[in-house]
Amino acid sequence: MKQPIYLDYQATTPCDPRVFEIMAPYFTQVYGNAASRSHAFGWQAEEAVSNARAQVAAAIGAHEKEIIFTSGSTEAINLAMKGVVDMYGKKDGDCPGHIVTSLAEHKAVLDTAKHLESLGVQVTYLKPDQYGRHSAEQVAEALQDNTLLVAIMWVNNEIGTVNPIAEIGKLCKERQVLFFCDATQAVGKVPVDVEAAGVDLLCLSGHKVYGPKGVGALYVRRRKPRVRLVAQMDGGGHERGMRSGTLNVPGIVGLGAACEIAVRDLEKDRAHSRALRDRFEEKIFAALDHVHRNGHPEHRVDMCSNLSFAYVEGESLIMGISGLAVSSGSACTSASLEPSHVLMSMGVGDELAHSSIRYGFGRFTTEADVDEAAEQTIAAVNKLRELSPLYEMVQEGIDLSTVQWTAH
Ligand SMILES: *Cc1c(COP(=O)(O)O)cnc(C)c1O
Repeated sequence: MKQPIYLDYQATTPCDPRVFEIMAPYFTQVYGNAASRSHAFGWQAEEAVSNARAQVAAAIGAHEKEIIFTSGSTEAINLAMKGVVDMYGKKDGDCPGHIVTSLAEHKAVLDTAKHLESLGVQVTYLKPDQYGRHSAEQVAEALQDNTLLVAIMWVNNEIGTVNPIAEIGKLCKERQVLFFCDATQAVGKVPVDVEAAGVDLLCLSGHKVYGPKGVGALYVRRRKPRVRLVAQMDGGGHERGMRSGTLNVPGIVGLGAACEIAVRDLEKDRAHSRALRDRFEEKIFAALDHVHRNGHPEHRVDMCSNLSFAYVEGESLIMGISGLAVSSGSACTSASLEPSHVLMSMGVGDELAHSSIRYGFGRFTTEADVDEAAEQTIAAVNKLRELSPLYEMVQEGIDLSTVQWTAH
């Protein structure tokens, strides 16, 4: 079977061969436990981990001591949100405290918030604007005396919208509320600096930045303020007690290398994906009408194009472009038939949400891939619209909103 063209870089990225090469010896040769203090195997592993810690820290403008390695962003999100509530939440009354987050967050944040709600935490879910974006003013209005944490993502994984993180960070600092930012889709796509952004906690993940799967990191601010967390896993006290468990040395080495490359090649990667994304959108908009772009027209990352094709049925469209590995809505929710919670939160209607496709263009995407993707999409949409009575009516100039539909 011919492999489809991979355009799902928000779901995961291939491991860059340069990263894989650096990781390889840590499986078979330098296989020590980084916690073994009594022999060279352990020292070598520990040195590799400490080098990777410096690379990850440098990529986000942090100090090495502020990096906690985890199994990925999901774990980092759980640790950040639950760890803050456990550390700072009120222990006596019914409600430990309040959290502000967004309806457009990744499920890892939303499900953690739901879990905290079940423990009595009060959660405000902010509705984003029509582009999936939040303002600092909106966050300000939601703050309460008992707010423990604001959790707003840097870049949305479905639509690529970039939030005004530095403004939200400044607000949180002024109001002395901790700010956690899911930067999983930001690293390698926009400049990330925890100082300039004023974030207190931030997560990132290896497999979204051309590193390996199953490894990520949580940044925990050490000064102004010093953030403390209650560990969510008990064990050997690794990672300064915040995340016990034998370190995934090859994975961590890969994460470090991937972060270093992501920052070094940031402008190159951006220019590459932007050129491809623009080429793709030009072709689509030139050939098709009634296509809606989901996400912010300016404040969006270069590698993402989320489009809704009116008057086609979502499931049929996905089948029509089976030569493309893309996602309809989020990769994590495409197993269910519910329309994307992100698009719904932005007020995109049911129909358009169902007919939305997320295209992601990455480091290894070629112009030929883009041309093929545009061609397949255009052919599939045209074919489905030929069968669509609604589209025919629209072509005839009938305003569908004025039609009186009767049920039989
Ligand atoms: C992929 C993703 C996650 C989950 O990361 P894992 O490392 O796969 O657990 C969380 N947030 C966002 C925005 C993501 O894109």
